[in-house]
Amino acid sequence: MVTIGTPFTERAKKVLLCGSGELGKEVVIELQRYGVEVVACDAYENAPAMQVADRAYVFSMLDGAELRRVIEKEAPDFVVPEVEAIATDVLAEMEAEGVATIIPTARATQLTMNREGIRRMAAEELGCVSSPYRFAGNLVEYEAAVAEVGLPCVVKPIMSSSGKGQSTLRTEAEILPAWEYAQEGGRAGAGKVIVEGFVDFDYEITLLTIRHVGGTSFCDPIGHIQVDGDYRESWQPQPMSELALQRAQEMAAKVTENLGGRGVFGVELFIKGDEVIFSEVSPRPHDTGMVTMISQDLSQFSLHARAILGLPIPNICTHGPSASCAHVVVGNSEKVCFGQVDQALAEPDTQLRLFGKPAVVGKRRMAVGLARGRDIEQARAKARGVIGALETDL
Ligand code: AMP
Repeated sequence: MVTIGTPFTERAKKVLLCGSGELGKEVVIELQRYGVEVVACDAYENAPAMQVADRAYVFSMLDGAELRRVIEKEAPDFVVPEVEAIATDVLAEMEAEGVATIIPTARATQLTMNREGIRRMAAEELGCVSSPYRFAGNLVEYEAAVAEVGLPCVVKPIMSSSGKGQSTLRTEAEILPAWEYAQEGGRAGAGKVIVEGFVDFDYEITLLTIRHVGGTSFCDPIGHIQVDGDYRESWQPQPMSELALQRAQEMAAKVTENLGGRGVFGVELFIKGDEVIFSEVSPRPHDTGMVTMISQDLSQFSLHARAILGLPIPNICTHGPSASCAHVVVGNSEKVCFGQVDQALAEPDTQLRLFGKPAVVGKRRMAVGLARGRDIEQARAKARGVIGALETDL
């Protein structure tokens, strides 16, 4: 029996969110629809999820001592990671001590924080097909890794996301610059890289997989386009052969079962013909899954909330071809203002989310346009139109 008490009383159901970006903001809203009390944490003030949460704490999620102090002070029912870079050893300790329930599990956050953990688990332990790969911690190992994997290949810091420090190498001249770029782009500064064989895929998908009290459910596959490793457009449903979809669901079920716990997972796969190649997995809602805010009655955020709270997910109702388009702003500002917002939403079946991020330094995703259409192409054009109409004043 699931019970949910009154917020701000000792009977409240309480969630502590580690990381407070745009995905976390939607998770907070969905949890609050059930009267859950939500505490948002991140390294900077006024982060998107903090703007809608009940309380906020500002500290680095990599500061294990502070993370422990805040979790002990708040004593939440659930700790919900929203980013990869967290002192996951502290989460593991607190889970083992029985002090906190980590979503989906502390082990899942540990394995996926680092590309090495999840790749070795999926490919070596579970036997999932993946691109050939090597890890390298210094220049000598790196050159040997590139020679073994061969060109073309993709180099990524093992602690990075959104394409930071990532390069695709096609010629020998690119080998050294890619190492240097990876050393700048890694989350925790210089460090180890993964060298992966380049996969000449037909298309790539995110298969949102939900582990909940009633079992495992899948959303329709989401197709997407990445620029420099960063998502720009996604759409749903991505057309797939029956065999490829069946294989994708089998692989996603196997990987998420190993990670365990309850919640939404974004399983990233490359597809070539009927072949499915494992790429990586997020043990939380995925940026490409923002399309579900317009394509499904229960978005990935609403599904995450249900799974976390132990509520049933008997079905997921879909609304037909839909798309999302990210608005990536380049520049420096602490007072970004969007103009033509009315024009952006002039077309029927479109939506817009402005994340309310307090600053842009360099390149930052600040908004997403959403649309439904008669087919994927029209939905994509409409989502691009939402973002295209927006004026950005830095
Ligand atoms: P990741 O951060 O690993 O999700 O990589 C970001 C994007 O880079 C992916 O979604 C792909 O579009 C591309 N990419 C990453 N690894 C490979 C690979 N081995 N072969 C081809 N493209 C890749």
